[in-house]
Parts: sequence; C-alpha cells; structure tokens
Amino acid sequence: MTTARIPGAPIVDGELFSTNPATGEQLDHFAVASTADVVAALARARVAAAWWAELGFAGRRERLLRYRSRLANRITELAALMHRESGKPVAEAIVEVTAAIEHVAWAAKHAHRVLRLRRIRSSLLQIEYSCRLEYQPFGVIGVIGPWNYPVLTPMGSIGYALAAGNAVLFKPSEYSPAVSHWLGEVFAEVVPEQPVLQVLYGGGEVGAALCRAGVDKIAFTGSTATGSKVMAACAETLTPVLLECGGKDAMIVDADADLGAAVSACVWGGLTNAGQTCAGIERVYVVAGVYDEFLRRLTERAAQLTVGAGDDADYGPITMPGQLDVIRRHIDDALSRGGRAVLGGPDAVQPPYVLPTILVDVPQSSAAMCDETFGPTLTVTRVADADEAVTLANASRYGLGGAVFSRSRGLELARRLRSGMTSVNSVISFVGMPMLPFGGVGDSGFGRIHGEDGLREFTRAKAITKRRAPSLLPTLTFDRTAKQIRQVVRIVKLLHGRSR
Ligand code: NDP
Repeated sequence: MTTARIPGAPIVDGELFSTNPATGEQLDHFAVASTADVVAALARARVAAAWWAELGFAGRRERLLRYRSRLANRITELAALMHRESGKPVAEAIVEVTAAIEHVAWAAKHAHRVLRLRRIRSSLLQIEYSCRLEYQPFGVIGVIGPWNYPVLTPMGSIGYALAAGNAVLFKPSEYSPAVSHWLGEVFAEVVPEQPVLQVLYGGGEVGAALCRAGVDKIAFTGSTATGSKVMAACAETLTPVLLECGGKDAMIVDADADLGAAVSACVWGGLTNAGQTCAGIERVYVVAGVYDEFLRRLTERAAQLTVGAGDDADYGPITMPGQLDVIRRHIDDALSRGGRAVLGGPDAVQPPYVLPTILVDVPQSSAAMCDETFGPTLTVTRVADADEAVTLANASRYGLGGAVFSRSRGLELARRLRSGMTSVNSVISFVGMPMLPFGGVGDSGFGRIHGEDGLREFTRAKAITKRRAPSLLPTLTFDRTAKQIRQVVRIVKLLHGRSR
C-alpha cells in the first residue's frame, strides 16, 4: 500500500483506510462511495429485494442458516481481523461473533412464525368479515453502524432485516470497513445470485447520502448526536428510522448483593472493550452498608487488568483517537468538581490506551455522570438504599440498559429502571438473547432490534378484512335503515354499556 494515512483521518483521496489502532498498521483500503454510487446501489438493491422477497421464508431461512454456519466455521478468522482492525482482544471478538451468530440463526428460524399471514378473530359487531394480518418487508433497509461492536451491532439490524425479507445497504463506520467487507463477502458467497447485502464505504457523508437516497427505512446505531442528524435527514422524505444510540448505564448494588459476583460483573461490564460499549456500565450506585467493601474489591480487581495490543490483554486501545479527549475531559471535570480517583485518573490516559479508572464522590451534575464517556472509567456513588439508587440511575437523559445486584429485590428494582433492558445479578446478559428485544428510551433512541419486535421493526403490518357473509346489521353503507341503527344502539349497550 503506497498512499500515506493521516493519523485520525481514515479517508485520504477518496480511499478509506482500515488501520490497526494499536500499531498504526494499514490493513486494507476501500473506495469511498459517491452519492451516485449510493443511488446505483439502491437501484440494484431494489431488484435484489424483489428476488429475496420472492424466495419466501423457507428460501431465506435456508440461506441465512448457511450464512450463520459460515460465520461459525470461520469465527477465529473473523475474530483475528476484528482484533487487528479495532484492537479488541480475540477472546472478546469471539464472544461478540458468537452472539451475532445466535441472532442470525434465531431470526432465520423464527421469521415465518412471527411475520407470516395469520387469521385474527373478528369483532362480534362485524362478524361477517374475516380478518388477516401479515408483516411484509419494507423493501430496502439502510443500515448505518458504529465501530465498537462491528459484527454484533450491525448484525442486530442486518440479520433481522434480511430474515424479514428485505435487501440491505450497509454503511459501516469508517473505523470498521475491513470487518464489514468480510461480512459482505461471505454473505455473497452464500447468496451469489443477487446483491441482497451491499456494503457502502465512507464517512458520515455516505451515511447522510444513504438517509436521503430513498431507502424504505434507516436502522441507525451510533451516537445520539448523529442519530439526531439522521432523523432530521430522514424527516425530509418521511423515511422511517430506528435509532440505537448511546447510553450511560447504571448498576445498582443492593445491601444483600453477592459482592463477589457484583464486582466481577462491574469490572467486565464497565471496562470490556476499553469501555467502548453502548450498554456498558458507566455509573455504579452502591448501598452504604456494602459500599466500602465493594469499592475495595472493585479497585483491587480493576487494578489487575492488563491493557495493551497483545492478544492476552484484557482490553485494548481506544479505537477512535478523538474519544481520548472526551475521556480525559470527563476525568478532569470530575476531579475539578471534588471527585477523587481511587484508581487511574488523568495519568491513565496514555494514547492509544486508557488504564482502568475508578472515580468516587463525583457530583451528579458532572460530565462523567451525565454524558457518555465511552472509556474504561467507572463512577461509584454511595446511596442510602436501593430506592435512592433507582432515583439517581433514572435521573439521566439516556436509558439503554442497566444492571441490578440484589438477592431479594432484583426483579422489582429492574422493572423500575427507566431503560430498555436490565440484567439482574449479571451484566449485559440481555444482548446475547435473540428472543429478547434490544433498544433504548430517551436519548438512547427508539425502536427495537432482536427478538420478535426486532423482526417486526423491519416490516410493515398489513391488515386485510374479507367479507364472508352478508351483513345482518349493515353499518358501512348508506343503504342501512333507521331500524338497523336502533338495533346497533341496543347491541352496543349490551356489549359495552356495563362499567365492568
Ligand atoms: P457515530 O454517531 O459517530 O457514527 C455512527 C455511524 O453514523 C457511523 O457509520 C458514521 O460514519 C455515521 N454517520 C456520521 N455522520 C452521519 C450523518 N450525518 N448521517 C448519517 N450517518 C452518519 O458513532 P460511533 O461510530 O462513534 O459509535 C459509537 C456510538 O455508538 C456510541 O455513542 C455508542 O453508545 C453507540 N452505540 C449504540 C449501540 C446501541 O445499540 N444502542 C450499540 C453500539 C454503539 P463514520 O464513522 O464514518 O463517521
């Protein structure tokens, strides 16, 4: 490769460079899509979508299951590429791909059951009509993805959109083109007939072009700020959007929690992937009686983590150079407002790495408490009881996931957290459950991927009524009589007039 890469600017002269964030090594490069390329890709996708829809559930299931089997058989090859392109350890990459495979398999196997044409019982007043409902594919879905989970995150949209019968145009992050290319190439091996899944490389402007191209829906995963831009662009053409945005997830540790389990989960939930996890733990609220012991054990465990480029490290570099400034700013802000670093601190930022950092006594109004840090930092706050923890956890504009550690009140507290998902006595365990929906509230976005809701998200409901007998009480016609209307009044009172 001859063209020089400017650090932190992966696009040079119309070429997008895939670069190892730990070493700066250039892995590959791809031509950036122009607006005309996006339009041409959409035209091809329209043809592919018609062919793919025509295959029916059985044909798509067979091909998607072949795709998941290719992913499974080549998992180590894919994980090695993820390690080189994002810096995440191979073990973490394998965990990620495993979850993605589970999702593709589940979507393929359950699409027919969830979306097929079915009969629905009619209402008594209009019993002469039969009702049918099915969920039809939109056509072409534009998927815009982030870099932090370059396989699992886009597959949460792509796998379900494909299983529902759509073609997909996928614009990955500029920081994960090689992994995305690999996913697209392997899919094309399994489905060589039509470009059902196309990858469009480039920066934000390619995503913006996709939003305006006339696709039937945009599934966006990324930051809240970009999500807002995507929604504004899509509003121009009334293109529906699904927004999976950032988070500031909280963990609650109750007085009766298993502290060993809570500490282990907290360290991993907060620091896995160098904290670059949308549903990662960023805030921890610990009930006073166990606070000191929890903090001592948490600090001790986090201090043991290894950080680096090696495959044996617990976590690797910060993938996106610009994020280092955000992390540094959050740490500085917390400390300048009276917070203390019991582990790490400003010196922990050692580009491209950030060492584990645990902050305490941080005011609720500081950036480290309010904004997404997206780094290996945790704030730990002492609370009087779990109810105060719920109040503070919910005092956030975000609401993606969260975790509760409690022996006696886990489910109750989980239900009270204002978020799309909560795990009890574990962290992030909902992500790998294909049967459960995933998505946020507030600034974390709206709409759902995964599960039955995730399949329906990529379809439009189609309702059909069919007359099967003459109407005894015709209402939907000018040919009704006054007597028939009096009968309607009598029946309505009979059916609905009681208060119970
Ligand atoms: P960004 O918002 O920076 O980018 C997301 C995607 O949008 C990228 O492909 C980006 O392209 C593209 N993009 C940028 N500008 C535009 C635009 N104007 N119109 C359309 N597309 C555009 O997020 P990151 O990639 O940095 O990902 C990290 C964020 O993603 C975090 O906030 C994280 O919480 C969130 N996330 C949310 C998840 C969820 O499921 N809720 C899961 C994973 C991450 P490019 O990169 O080339 O600029």
